[in-house]
Amino acid sequence: MLEGKYQEFYKQISQTISEERIFTDKLHTLAYGTDASFYRLIPKIVIKTDTPPQQVVSILELANSMELSVTFRAAGTSLSGQAITDSILVVTSRSFRDFRLSDDKSEISLQPALTGQEANNILAPFSKKIGPDPASINAAMIGGIAANNASGMCCGIADNSYKTLKSMKLIFQDGSRLDTGCESSKAEFRKTHGDFLKELKQIAIDTVNDEELRAKIERKFKIKNTCGYSLNALIDFEDEFEILQHLIIGSEGTLAFIEEITYKTVEDLKDKASALIYFKNVKEACNAVTKIKLAREANKITVDAVELMDRAGLRSIENDPAMPEFIKEFDNEVTALLIETRAINDETLDTQIKELETLLEEFEVKRDIYFTKDVAEYTLYWKIRKGLFPAVGAVRETGTTVIIEDVAYPIEVLADATLELQELFKKHGYKEALIFGHALEGNFHFVFTQDFAIEEEVKRYDAFMNDVVNSVAVKYQGSLKAEHGTGRNMAAFIEVEWGGKTAYSMMKRIKTLFDPKELLNPGVIINDDAQAHLKNLKAMPATNEIVDKCIECGFCEPTCPSNELTLTPRQRIVINREISRLTREGKLDEAKEYEELYQYDGIETCATCSLCSTACPVKIDTGSLTKHLRAEQIDIRANNIANKIVDNFSTTLTGMKFGLSSANIVHSILGTASMQTITSTLREWSGNKIPKWSPYLPRPAKINTNFEQQLKDKKKLSISHHVLTVL
Ligand SMILES: Cc1cc2nc3c(=O)[nH]c(=O)nc-3n(C[C@H](O)[C@H](O)[C@H](O)COP(=O)(O)OP(=O)(O)OC[C@H]3O[C@@H](n4cnc5c(N)ncnc54)[C@H](O)[C@@H]3O)c2cc1C
Repeated sequence: MLEGKYQEFYKQISQTISEERIFTDKLHTLAYGTDASFYRLIPKIVIKTDTPPQQVVSILELANSMELSVTFRAAGTSLSGQAITDSILVVTSRSFRDFRLSDDKSEISLQPALTGQEANNILAPFSKKIGPDPASINAAMIGGIAANNASGMCCGIADNSYKTLKSMKLIFQDGSRLDTGCESSKAEFRKTHGDFLKELKQIAIDTVNDEELRAKIERKFKIKNTCGYSLNALIDFEDEFEILQHLIIGSEGTLAFIEEITYKTVEDLKDKASALIYFKNVKEACNAVTKIKLAREANKITVDAVELMDRAGLRSIENDPAMPEFIKEFDNEVTALLIETRAINDETLDTQIKELETLLEEFEVKRDIYFTKDVAEYTLYWKIRKGLFPAVGAVRETGTTVIIEDVAYPIEVLADATLELQELFKKHGYKEALIFGHALEGNFHFVFTQDFAIEEEVKRYDAFMNDVVNSVAVKYQGSLKAEHGTGRNMAAFIEVEWGGKTAYSMMKRIKTLFDPKELLNPGVIINDDAQAHLKNLKAMPATNEIVDKCIECGFCEPTCPSNELTLTPRQRIVINREISRLTREGKLDEAKEYEELYQYDGIETCATCSLCSTACPVKIDTGSLTKHLRAEQIDIRANNIANKIVDNFSTTLTGMKFGLSSANIVHSILGTASMQTITSTLREWSGNKIPKWSPYLPRPAKINTNFEQQLKDKKKLSISHHVLTVL
């Protein structure tokens, strides 16, 4: 039941948006409250926006006038807690799917609910793609990709959203709109938002004039960085509209709503080769990465991606049938690099391979270096690499959470910094932690499992993270978030990373300028709470072993046929986890409430097609869970019927005797042929609900009515099953 301002907001917004698209019930607010991070906030109101952009404008105008905060949601695959809220959640994922392609295919305009892969599918026939390439690209949507400045294995900092942005259509917190690709829109904005543009320009001038700050920004954005706002916009551009739109990249829904983005497309070279190379240890592998990176910068080699997987990472995938058997035999130090090079034709590709092989000759490797051009073979390697994080999540202890961190180091310190990271795992007892990631960009993810249900464990996590922050951001001058966004997870550490007060105060000035009332995704990026990273942690209670391994990444969602109708597989799992938790804690009434709400959205509308398992990196089949739940329900219903029969056995027998006698009487009057025709027609009309009549049906027997008492005296459950079978 909504209270106060939210009730009023609901009343007013439901006059412009159909109530069918607005959710305030327990089930939907919890289901949509979940993203892929280890944080949870439950929204009071979820709105699935329909007709872009008028509905977003209405929502923002109303929320602004009532001072209620709003968070935008694309695919909800974010990992830092930036796609959740306890206020109003605006879900754009069911609409906003238009696109336009320029005549020469050099630009593509995309609405925010297309997935990155859908955009690439549009571009594929022209050998083009969008720049950003997160591993989550099949599920992640353009709005989230741009708002997080997501990147991946190949795009680095050269082809990310920041670098490939052409223009944007935006909706601001007060409902006003701007199209940076349209001169008349810009002219109008100048008239209505003159002071805004003046202050924006002033922030940029102050930044450029502050030599120390300017140098820091230049240095920090030489590597991937999504910790805080994209301050590089302040020094890279002079035009206010360029500054403005580049600040939106990586702003995680805290500055404005992206209604459309136009990207410059990039070439998608088809001639590719990949090698999985096994180095003797992590230091050797990191040194090889540094050498590759420097050679690439000097234009001596062409390499598109270098991904590192440490021994623990390799172990988590060594049983995959696609992986070579010999990996299992490696010692504990072996570290792999997955390298890809792409060329304009096959001949050039061969040259590039040769150059890479020569470059790597000096390093100690466990197997001969072998580049494959076989599409099936390298596609499998990359698929496995992309699924590494969820795969690790799947081997965690049930009930624990899997955490993925996302740091970047300057390439020169990569080996030392990585060794220190491994030491920190040992110091804090994270024995299972593993490292993998976009080594060419100095961008590593480390993954570990964490129990947030125990206070001591939360303290351990906090101590570990403090050491990580000091090592990454202070000692090695790296980025605390390279591509996943600051969210709630790193908000408390932005000042540590950026040092001093200047950079952070610029970020606060930016936030105040765009969102003076702090209504857009509050708590994300700018958050004064030093403990924000330890609050609103999400538990992962066990529910059913069919789905317990799920890390709620959301990769399943685009494949699910009920996605747009009711719930997605991830959401079904979330609700089942909650029902199990409530049941375990004895909160049965609340659990029942969820169960009732879940019946249609969760059970009846699941197609049980198992398509979700094809997208899930660990093949979780939520369809199986539904079948299991349906079977359980049938069992319960059958038991109830059987128990009723047992409790009223003489009435049942009398009824059956009457039925059999009546059938016999009518049979003797009509004869077998007519009786057969009439009963089968009646049966057909009733949809097979009337039992099939047969001329061999027995006559009613004489029954000992004490039998009912005997039945009652015996164990009901087993007898009821027996009686049901007999009947
Ligand atoms: C298994 C796994 C692997 C991943 N791998 C990578 C990777 O390789 N590289 C990487 O960078 N990330 C990765 N991620 C993180 C995540 O997938 C990306 O950041 C992705 O781009 C988020 O997109 P989304 O559609 O899920 O956005 P959401 O999570 O829905 O939203 C992201 C942010 O954008 C805001 N937002 C959404 N739509 C709009 C809009 N229209 N206007 C303004 N703001 C908006 C939201 O409020 C939120 O702050 C991974 C995640 C998972 C679970």
